[in-house]
Amino acid sequence: MRRLARLFRPPLRVLLPLLALAGGTWLAADEGQWLPEQIRGFDWPALRARGLELTADEIWNGEEGLLSAAVNLNGCSASFISPRGLVVTNHHCGYGAINAHSTPENNLLEQGFLAADPSEELPARGMRVSIVRGFDDVTAEMQEAMAEAGDDPAARARAVERRRRELEDEVRAPGADAVVVPFFEGRIWRRIRRTVFEDVRLVCAPPAAIGEYGGEEDNWMWPRHTGDFCFFRVYVAPDGTPAPYAEENVPYHPERWLEVSEEGVEEGDLVLILGYPGRTERYLSSVAVAMRESWYYPMRERLFRAMIAGIEAETAADPAASLRARSRIKGLANGLKNAQGMIAGLARNRVVERKEAEEAEFRRWAQNDNRRARVYGRVLDELLELDRRELARQERDFLFEALVRYSGLARMGRAVAAELAGGEPAEPVLRRERGRLWAGSEEAVLALVFEELWRLPEPQRGPWWDLLFAGVGSRAEAAAAGRARARSTALAAAAAWQEVTDPAADPMVELMVLLRPVLAELAEFRAAQAGERLRVGPRWIAAQEEWRGERFYPDANGTLRVSVATVKGYQPRDGVWYPPRTTVAGIVEKHTGRPPFDAPDELLAAAARPGRGEIPVCFLSDGDTTGGNSGSPVVDGRGRLVGLNFDRVFENVAGDYGWNPERSRNISVDIRYVLWLLREVYPAPRLVAEMLGPDRRGG
Ligand code: ASP
Repeated sequence: MRRLARLFRPPLRVLLPLLALAGGTWLAADEGQWLPEQIRGFDWPALRARGLELTADEIWNGEEGLLSAAVNLNGCSASFISPRGLVVTNHHCGYGAINAHSTPENNLLEQGFLAADPSEELPARGMRVSIVRGFDDVTAEMQEAMAEAGDDPAARARAVERRRRELEDEVRAPGADAVVVPFFEGRIWRRIRRTVFEDVRLVCAPPAAIGEYGGEEDNWMWPRHTGDFCFFRVYVAPDGTPAPYAEENVPYHPERWLEVSEEGVEEGDLVLILGYPGRTERYLSSVAVAMRESWYYPMRERLFRAMIAGIEAETAADPAASLRARSRIKGLANGLKNAQGMIAGLARNRVVERKEAEEAEFRRWAQNDNRRARVYGRVLDELLELDRRELARQERDFLFEALVRYSGLARMGRAVAAELAGGEPAEPVLRRERGRLWAGSEEAVLALVFEELWRLPEPQRGPWWDLLFAGVGSRAEAAAAGRARARSTALAAAAAWQEVTDPAADPMVELMVLLRPVLAELAEFRAAQAGERLRVGPRWIAAQEEWRGERFYPDANGTLRVSVATVKGYQPRDGVWYPPRTTVAGIVEKHTGRPPFDAPDELLAAAARPGRGEIPVCFLSDGDTTGGNSGSPVVDGRGRLVGLNFDRVFENVAGDYGWNPERSRNISVDIRYVLWLLREVYPAPRLVAEMLGPDRRGG
């Protein structure tokens, strides 16, 4: 067995670059979102002592392992839990699909959904599930592309993009694709090969009163009682290959699926969290973090708040429209509270101050030794210089990027402006954007962006400023001008691009024509910065590694990772201790009869039965997670599914900038709560049998 496993080790080439990163000691605490290829470097005796029964190769042997059951679902995490392609993830990850099948008369979000048999499973159009098939080391290829590009930083960034695309295209095939991604700021690169499934169907979702119990009030909070789960199934063509939706498709038989445990975990137990953390920025400089704290998150908070208010006002009187808007509002509200948590956490953890102190210490360390001074003497200054360049123009760049990112009208206007200038036809963009416009949100974005552009510090203005704000004398007038532009554009109303009779005179097109050179300059600036970072970043990481003398894990970038954690409570503030578990009794305790604490009657009745109050609902652990880990399978020391990660605590939102043993806690829904709901509240015997039946032993 051992010998066989060794045969399947990845080629040496994949492991080599990481040997350099594997020196030093294993981090003492549960910090780290580890790459599959780093698992063998863990402190295995310590993990075994903590209750991990799996071997490194059982988790990932270079080609497959337990991790193969952890799939990506439209940026969320999920896992296969049966040999018939059953996938479990968070309710909030399936929200769009459930919403898409809901109408005011047949509101699946409100009622919940259970397919009585496979024929009733609902196509979740636009949902894609992908399985990681392997990692290729493409560091040499990427370095070669950089070297060929020469000294111009923007050219370097573009060359990297081109090479990336080529390497991805090389392995693209029906049902298979790849992404080429940098780790450690580009110190190493991997091509991740994947199988991609497009026929994904909704199997079961609890009513929103369970799946969203606590709503925005409880979001990013503990204690928590949200049943944040739902089920999908992956289908393939009758010959077993990935295929778009077709009636004759059949359930997919994955090579790997997780066994579901009814035993659960207790305080102090080890768990592993598998999945696809989206983005962390742990190795940023003090200047970069200060930018986030002083401008980026406060502006996001204002922007999202204004967009939500705009959509709510627009849809208040129309039940069908307000139902349609729910997914959008939920996403914005999640981002809004995330921004609030960031602002509070960055201040409370004094991240900027801490970074400054670390940087001073790093300087001393680097200067203290001739070799270090030669190799790393300048790297921090180079990094700070790059960040200061961005700081000097952060307000305007944020506003222009927000305009294009959050306004569909701006994107449409930009596409038309490009066509007028002899570029690509605008029609595909117009078609794509038109269906998802919310007028209230458009007006809010334009008003806020105009108001803030008007207030820009003088050096960040350009010729466009005078043209845009001729005759504008106050913030309020600037906001009104933005709002008026959103209202008066013909783009939103146009049934087809051809119907915009005089595109050049359309207020939104006119705006985007005016901003074309500004956005082009911004793109050039970003490319140059990216190119410079490709040069400085890897050296900065190397310096950090040598200085800290610890094993290193790369920032999250949406790729498959493992976090090792302990079920653990925490102290949110002085004199308060949060135990790591909530129970069904807590749902009843929070119940007010009004949303977001409006537990369904069926649940309240079942909860009243003897002993049911003690059933666990959610638990905390000190996992290193972030957005994208939503839906991540949480497994015990034997690799059995015990929960689904769905959130972090408020005190840990800013954990993206630094893990903290005292406060870094992730929240999971306990699989025993899911099973109880499926047995006693909304009986789903077929589904329970599939989860716990004779096939249950993970594949
Ligand atoms: N709630 C988050 C998400 O939606 C998970 C997290 O950020 O911890 O991805």
